[in-house]
Amino acid sequence: MVPFSAIGKCESLSSRSWPGSWKPLGDDPLIQWYLKLGDNVKISIVVLLLAASANLARAAKTLDVYDIDVEGGKSVLIVSPSGESMLFDVGWPGFNGRDADRIVAAAKSAGLSHIDYLVISHYDIDHLGDVPLLLSKLPATHIVDHGPMEAAKPPSDRYKDYTAIRDKLDHIVVKPGDRIPIKGVDVLVVTAARQHIEKPLKGAGAPNPLCATTPPKPELPTDVEDNMSIGLLFTLGKFRMLDLADLESAYDYKLMCPNNPIGSVDVYQVSIHGQDKGVSPVLAQALGARVALMGNGPRKGGAPQTWETLRGAPGLEDIWQVHYSVAGGQDHNPPADYIANLEGTDEAHWLKLSAQTTGAFSVTNSRNGFTKTYKHK
Ligand SMILES: [Zn+2]
Repeated sequence: MVPFSAIGKCESLSSRSWPGSWKPLGDDPLIQWYLKLGDNVKISIVVLLLAASANLARAAKTLDVYDIDVEGGKSVLIVSPSGESMLFDVGWPGFNGRDADRIVAAAKSAGLSHIDYLVISHYDIDHLGDVPLLLSKLPATHIVDHGPMEAAKPPSDRYKDYTAIRDKLDHIVVKPGDRIPIKGVDVLVVTAARQHIEKPLKGAGAPNPLCATTPPKPELPTDVEDNMSIGLLFTLGKFRMLDLADLESAYDYKLMCPNNPIGSVDVYQVSIHGQDKGVSPVLAQALGARVALMGNGPRKGGAPQTWETLRGAPGLEDIWQVHYSVAGGQDHNPPADYIANLEGTDEAHWLKLSAQTTGAFSVTNSRNGFTKTYKHK
């Protein structure tokens, strides 16, 4: 039993003998050196150490991509490891501000109160949405588009409202080969205003064998704006994701034939909501994506031919969808865990992809929390 008189008697740490090789931190020469420093120097060292650990934490963060449910329109939120953000299209207008509210909810979930780069792929109504309304709820610093609208009919009031608010912000017009300067992830413009990159990217440029055997579909004169789409290639370390917005099959050929200038990707954001006219075998086969994410609605996109084209491509592991496709039925839709919004429900669930510099990535269904991780191959 310890005598009461011994309790509270403090022996000097340095005078005590410690078992084995273990010593108290105070005996460490580095600690002894630190204790002898002046207070200002000590504070500077602590600040430097905190900054270094914050940088390490940032470096470990992921590239996060939210495929937001805008009922067959397009809206994809990107948050880079640096914390900067980009919104690719804003869904539909109307419906009491439904899509703007859904985008704000996704942004809030990502910890964002503003967007750094708002990118409008083209001016069709399911992408242009209601930009003034959205910006009143979620401000943006820069607006990126492909330049003037090229359509047979005069510009709509909606387009005029868009240009009016766009011109008050920092407006950037991009062309193929440009980069959207979001920090922490490389975002290369591969298509814009019916043009595409001419020079193959590093490591790409191999002949695309399907070009010779699969004839291109004719260009649809009614879909001028679709083919004006800004298409983006995202690269984070070894991870690559391609999103061509509403580029149609005829323009897949122009981009991917006779040589593939892009190479392979890990994730393909399926063009034009998975409509038949949007995904050609020359694109899908050459990309060899492991995962396809489809921003379809229950009755828009998700055409049976699209699944056949995607599943016929080498390396495809899974198709994830924002909605169950009524046209696809049980024969074509993936299992329920891979669908954010099931038949007959409208709860605005999203798909969230998180990618690491190692090339590994995961996809999560916000409806039920189902997650699948894809290790880098
Ligand atoms: Zn569209």
